[in-house]
Parts: sequence; structure tokens; C-alpha cells
Amino acid sequence: MIDLHTHSTASDGTDSPAELVRQAKLAGVTVLALTDHDTDAGWDEAAVSAAEQGIALIRGAEISTTLGGRSVHLLSYLHDPAHPGLRQAFARTKASRLERLQKMTALISADFPISWPDVVAQTQPGASVGRPHIADALVAAGVVADRDAAFANMLRPGSPYYTRYEAPATAEMVAVVRQAGGVPVLAHPFATRGRHPCDDDVAGLVRVGLLGLEVWHREQDEAARQHALALTERFGLWPTGSSDYHGFGKPNRLGENYTSETVFAKIAHAGVLPVLYP
Ligand code: AMP
Ligand code: ZN
Ligand code: FE
Ligand code: FE
Repeated sequence: MIDLHTHSTASDGTDSPAELVRQAKLAGVTVLALTDHDTDAGWDEAAVSAAEQGIALIRGAEISTTLGGRSVHLLSYLHDPAHPGLRQAFARTKASRLERLQKMTALISADFPISWPDVVAQTQPGASVGRPHIADALVAAGVVADRDAAFANMLRPGSPYYTRYEAPATAEMVAVVRQAGGVPVLAHPFATRGRHPCDDDVAGLVRVGLLGLEVWHREQDEAARQHALALTERFGLWPTGSSDYHGFGKPNRLGENYTSETVFAKIAHAGVLPVLYP
């Protein structure tokens, strides 16, 4: 079972990288990709744990980008973590995420009993922060029952507390990922939440080196999956499936969607880093 999209406490997941790997093993995952938002910080811990647990590890990330004013998530697998273009993008986006979270927290703190230290208390040092950490602070303060309730209310775009963060253009990051020897795959392009890229957007990304589309994902219904699959056939892209597991912060279960051996082999072959086998 090959699960190519998961999060740890290096970003907004709730399991440490080592615990995530243990949970993946328990769930029957044989190949796991760690794809924290805009960071490689969890890689080393996950690698040690994967060797101990006897599962194969793909080191990856989920990169925040913007396309026509929309937020688009780009998965990257097996890239060189020292590539200057990638390092700069991660550093900038992480800083913008932090500033944005502080702004949102300041706005929320006018109406609810949380402050910045309460949000920091929900994060690991050096983590790539996001709205789920404010949600966790709101849960800890007893304001909402869970992350979902926080997102349905104060954290959704359109809420008076919502603030954007800066992220580079999707096409630029597809090119940078390729320069860094990575494998760029669009994450959940037709998810129920958010606006969708049109076919021409995807065509433009293919021209700069996009290699795959996430097809089987909890937030893509049957029509979205059919559309994504048709685009992979039209453009010769690799279709992937994955859980987008975040620990107990989301209902997504490890291995609930998965990727074929054939597509995994293509990704493994295309990346500059090796897949880590136990
Ligand atoms: P941000 O990175 O700050 O834009 O926050 C978006 C992240 O929050 C997504 O990548 C998801 O991991 C997570 N998320 C979005 N909606 C929900 C939800 N309803 N419940 C829990 N987590 C969510
Ligand atoms: Zn996330
Ligand atoms: Fe995402
Ligand atoms: Fe994700």
C-alpha cells in the first residue's frame, strides 16, 4: 500500500514524524511519503523511524503556491533539499505563514480567549505553522469542539479574522522543483473546497514540467476524480492517490487512498534522491 501525502508535527499534523511512520506501519502502508507544508524539517526523524519499522520512505513536501489569485498546493517528491530556489521559497513562505498566523491570532484574540503564546504552545519548535494551530488553541481554550468547527467558523476564507499569506506562483515552483531534481504533482486540484484550476492552467503547468496529478483524494468526489484522470491521460501525467493524513486533526486515515506500483516506480525513477528502503 503506497500512500504519497501525509503530514507530521513538522507542519500541521498531530503525530511526530516518528509516530507517523509507526502509524503508517500499523495501517499496512509499505511506501510512505512525508509531505509537510513548505518544509523538509521532518525528514531525518522519519528516515530513522522508517528504517526501524521496515517501511520505504519518500521524502517530500507540499508546497504552497498561487495561481490566478487562488491557493494551489504542489506536492514535490525526492527533491534536493539544498537547492537554493527551493530553500528560498520555503524560508519565505514559512515566514509569511508565521506573520499571517500572528495577524489572525491578534484579530481573533479581540473576541475569543486565546493569545499568541497559546498558539505557539500548539506547535513544535521550527514547525511550518498554519490555521490548524489556531484551531488547536481554540480547542484547548474550550471555544470550539474540534479543528473542523474552527474552520467552519473563524478560520474560513471570508471570516473577518481570515488573512492571506504570500506564496510563489505555481508555474515558477513546478520549474524550481524540476531544477531541484524533484517530482512535482498537483495536490487535490479539484477538491470540494476552493476554486479549481482550469484545463488550460494544467496545460501551462505541464509545459513547465508538471509530472502528476493527485486523483484519489478524500476531498475529490467521483466527478472530480474522473476529470483529473482524463487530464492525466490527455497530458501524459501520472495519477496518484493518497490519504493527506494529519493525525487526529482530520478524519483522513492512512492508506484510505493509495497509488499504483507503476506510478510509484516512475516517481522513484524520476527523483534525484533515492527512496529510502529499510
Ligand atoms: P493554512 O495552511 O493555514 O492555509 O491551513 C490550511 C490547512 O488546514 C490545510 O492544508 C489542511 O491541512 C487544514 N484544514 C483545512 N480545512 C480543515 C478542516 N476543516 N479541519 C481540519 N483541518 C483543515
Ligand atoms: Zn495541512
Ligand atoms: Fe493540501
Ligand atoms: Fe496536505
